[in-house]
Amino acid sequence: MQKLVGQTAIVTGASSGIGKACAIALGLDGANVVVNYAGNSAGADEAVETIKNEGGNAIAFKADVSKQDQVKAMFKAAVDTFGTVDILVNNAGLQKDARFTEMSLADWQFVLDVNLTGQFLCAQEAVREFQRRGMSGSKALGKIICMSSVHELIPWAGHVNYAASKGGVMLMMKSLAQELGPMKIRVNSIAPGAIKTPINYSAWHTPEAEARLLKLIPYKRVGETEDIGNVCCWLASDESDYIHGATIFVDGGMTLYPGFEDNG
Ligand code: NAD
Repeated sequence: MQKLVGQTAIVTGASSGIGKACAIALGLDGANVVVNYAGNSAGADEAVETIKNEGGNAIAFKADVSKQDQVKAMFKAAVDTFGTVDILVNNAGLQKDARFTEMSLADWQFVLDVNLTGQFLCAQEAVREFQRRGMSGSKALGKIICMSSVHELIPWAGHVNYAASKGGVMLMMKSLAQELGPMKIRVNSIAPGAIKTPINYSAWHTPEAEARLLKLIPYKRVGETEDIGNVCCWLASDESDYIHGATIFVDGGMTLYPGFEDNG
């Protein structure tokens, strides 16, 4: 049975990887979907087509989540097309890796702007829309799902901008959950471990790289984007109505300190 019929979701950064899988999963679960993209529209168009082919509703919308005017335009398009927004999946994110002393201020700022400020801007517009519209077809006034990472918890040398952004997402999510819970707005995070997408292609695309990666994963499987899409649908649905302010780790056990397994 479809769990999200009559609801509308915006998924940011949904032209590839995890965002695309979440958009498709939400669409197949009955939600109208705004498939956000920042650059080339091809992946977003594919997601829209997949949803429509299964009888769902979706549009693609170009917006840079770190730009407030573009975020506002995306929410306006969602409301103009589907009436309101019920679910925000704050997924857009990127990496600009460098050893600490080589990291430029521009690369620090760029990652924080997209990964953290982008989530702030989209969450703010979502909350404003939830409040304007009032209760609709869900137990909650609205739902916000932040795409975090195991690196909201695990430090990551050579990726200090990315780790700082995800640490920021963790406390932004929890602070929003504390503030918005009384309004019946549910806020949670998904923290993926290693999922096969373009962002970490070099970490899994050769057998040697994959073997190195598997040492960090007790469950001995690199994740697929559908692993996240499934959790996203459940977290957006009323089945998870009492989950609030939580980070759901979807990581095959990466956060279990696997280095200790054979250490004495
Ligand atoms: P991805 O590169 O396929 O997806 C990221 C998407 O964000 C891309 O479609 C990109 O175009 C979009 N994007 C980048 N800047 C944007 C902007 N300014 N505005 C709008 N969209 C923008 O990689 P992914 O792995 O699917 O990453 C999705 C999210 O999952 C990210 O937040 C990432 O940090 C998180 N994550 C991924 C993994 C993993 O193993 N793949 C692990 C932990 C967390």
